[in-house]
Amino acid sequence: SNQFVVAIMGDSTFYHACIPALINAIYNNSPMLVLVLDNRVTAMTGHQPHPGTGRTAMGIRINEVKIEDIASGIGVRYVKTIDPFNVKDSIEEFIKAIKYVLDNKTVALINSRRACTLMVASNAIRKGISIPTYTIDNNLCRACGLCYNQIGCPAIIPMDDKKAYIESILCFGCSVCMQICPYNAIKPRIESSKNWEDLWRID
Ligand code: SF4
Ligand code: SF4
Repeated sequence: SNQFVVAIMGDSTFYHACIPALINAIYNNSPMLVLVLDNRVTAMTGHQPHPGTGRTAMGIRINEVKIEDIASGIGVRYVKTIDPFNVKDSIEEFIKAIKYVLDNKTVALINSRRACTLMVASNAIRKGISIPTYTIDNNLCRACGLCYNQIGCPAIIPMDDKKAYIESILCFGCSVCMQICPYNAIKPRIESSKNWEDLWRID
């Protein structure tokens, strides 16, 4: 059959709960696409470090235990890292991974890697760096609904006429909505800066 499982997890959950399941999946040739949403921190419980952060519980720098290395070590042959802010490349990688899962009836793992938005935003506020928010050009918006139906961003709100509106206080400038709008109706309200880009760097 062409059925397969899609397993989605955060990076900290990968380390504390998903490795045994991944071993079983690869051992049993389970057709499964594993998607790790890797923001390099234990965001759900208060931004504690985990073995992938490169910091110990005492805050000391140390070599990280990479998700990709664990997956490869277990025997996952298809392991890719993507940037979720690059929509086109991410979609291409997903299509390739799904094809691999279906053709080989086994596991593929995609690590979707970007720093935690909350941490980036709080660092930006602390350092006085402007967040490059986006806005909708009401004249260009055709009310197609793609942006508010497809990507789940809480900043994008449908109006009574079905055109989109971006609540700027909830926008953190990822640009994903701009990339998917078929009518080029989404524009930067505040341009990005090198300081802002640097905050997203994962080193
Ligand atoms: S995707 Fe573009 S055209 Fe469609 S609702 Fe959103 S802003 Fe409007
Ligand atoms: S730029 Fe990102 S955070 Fe801002 S509205 Fe678009 S999708 Fe949401």
